Amino acid sequence: MAYNIAVDGPAGAGKSTIAKAVAKKMNLIYVDTGMMYRAIALFVLRQKIDLQDSEKIVEACKSVDVTIRYEDGMQMVLLNGENVSARLRTEEVGTAASVISPIPEVRRKLVELQRKLAAESDCIMDGRDIGTCVLPDAQKKIYLTASSEVRAKRRYDELTAKGETCDLKKIREDIEERDYRDMHRETSPLKQAEDAILLDTSDMTIEEVIGKIISLCSDKQ
Ligand code: C5P
Repeated sequence: MAYNIAVDGPAGAGKSTIAKAVAKKMNLIYVDTGMMYRAIALFVLRQKIDLQDSEKIVEACKSVDVTIRYEDGMQMVLLNGENVSARLRTEEVGTAASVISPIPEVRRKLVELQRKLAAESDCIMDGRDIGTCVLPDAQKKIYLTASSEVRAKRRYDELTAKGETCDLKKIREDIEERDYRDMHRETSPLKQAEDAILLDTSDMTIEEVIGKIISLCSDKQ
């Protein structure tokens, strides 16, 4: 049976950085489910479909094929065969993903793909509903969080390091708005699974968080 680690938490909690590093150290594949929602959001944006028009999005979803491929341990997302990985990490696509992700048909399609990947390989999978819905039987569940102030500052530092100009206050507002949407939607809202271990990373370094998760998973053969 595959060994699965589920990591959930709000935007900017460091899930992907940490899960990627844990995957490397523990020889697991890393499955970034946010990228899958982002791929569908990119498709919807490209088709210029109104993000509020669920009916059209459901219809469009029927012609969307999202596939995952690994190159040197890195997850690539293919949208109808096109590698769109480099186009998914923008704020525009992230916000659009959080607007379309409550649609049950979108979730059904992606959850099926996520469960298939987890059944096939030892993996660490991150998202919003992994411990509560996608992998309820995961061997380990982690709920990773940090204050919205710390999360906004991390995102701000990341963007300024890339040479982008941005406004810290606006980033914090966007993060809080996205958290609200993700936590209050009807289908699979973001919440800590009852059996998940809470890690508040506000005052922890990345190395400390990685070390903590690895020590929690010492039962892996
Ligand atoms: O994690 P990331 O910021 O890439 O996710 C983008 C959006 O996709 C989230 O704000 C959330 O609405 C949605 N998502 C989700 N369920 C997941 C992963 C992401 O609803 N498992």
